[in-house]
Amino acid sequence: MKIKVDDILDEGKSIELYDKLHLNGLEIDGPVSASLFLKKIREDIFLSGTVSLNVILSCNRCLNTTRKNITVKPDLTILPIKALEDEDSRQLLGDELEICFYSDSELDIHQIIGDQIFLNLPMKLLCSDDCKGLCIQCGQNLNITTCRCESEVSDNRFKILEKLIK
Ligand SMILES: [Zn+2]
Ligand SMILES: [Zn+2]
Repeated sequence: MKIKVDDILDEGKSIELYDKLHLNGLEIDGPVSASLFLKKIREDIFLSGTVSLNVILSCNRCLNTTRKNITVKPDLTILPIKALEDEDSRQLLGDELEICFYSDSELDIHQIIGDQIFLNLPMKLLCSDDCKGLCIQCGQNLNITTCRCESEVSDNRFKILEKLIK
């Protein structure tokens, strides 16, 4: 989805989106919905709103495939690419993270949303906050079953200790 910069009027522009997006390395379940607002001040564009989607990922702890809703609230400044050529504004931009650029007087909304989704993916994804993970010894999923590894370990240690004492 491309938006012409000239089509963003003084009162701003709202975009409602419910589209299938393909992002490399991320499995998205169903369409991505986004409700965005674009505001333009001279050539600088400010994008804010909400992006919501479901992703399929494996849990960092138990490796189970899990479906997770992710909501991203972008708050982004989009500048014409020529701003990069200007030394002064480049220094000004140095500290700002939430900035991206457009060229050809067009915004690629799908591209922008895709970048925002990747930037906001949680570092650690868990199937649930209290996921018990896999047993480090027998590899069983401790959410489903309980194993006796831990008690066996302490038993073994105790036996070794007994031997040492003898
Ligand atoms: Zn898990
Ligand atoms: Zn175990």
